[in-house]
Amino acid sequence: MASRCAHYESVVRVGPPLDGCADCLEIGGTWVHLRQCLACGRTGCCNQSPNRHATAHFRETGHPMIRSVAPDDPWLWCYEDDRLYLPDDAAQEGEPS
Ligand SMILES: [Zn+2]
Ligand SMILES: [Zn+2]
Ligand SMILES: [Zn+2]
Repeated sequence: MASRCAHYESVVRVGPPLDGCADCLEIGGTWVHLRQCLACGRTGCCNQSPNRHATAHFRETGHPMIRSVAPDDPWLWCYEDDRLYLPDDAAQEGEPS
């Protein structure tokens, strides 16, 4: 259960996210929540947003992992495996409770 998918290991250190969805800013769209690609750092909007750019980015590029941009809600998501990683998953390692 503690094992992670191969995509998790491929996550790279990305820069800070934009203040908005990169694609929505271009087309004047709106978004609900922001997601950031963990392969190239692209900021996109979530699936509750009208344009779902984070998912569109995955379909276009195959970049499998995103993170939630909300600082108080820092989960990761793997599109390939439909797998959610909560901060606890990472915190548990080497940290006996
Ligand atoms: Zn995966
Ligand atoms: Zn968008
Ligand atoms: Zn990407």
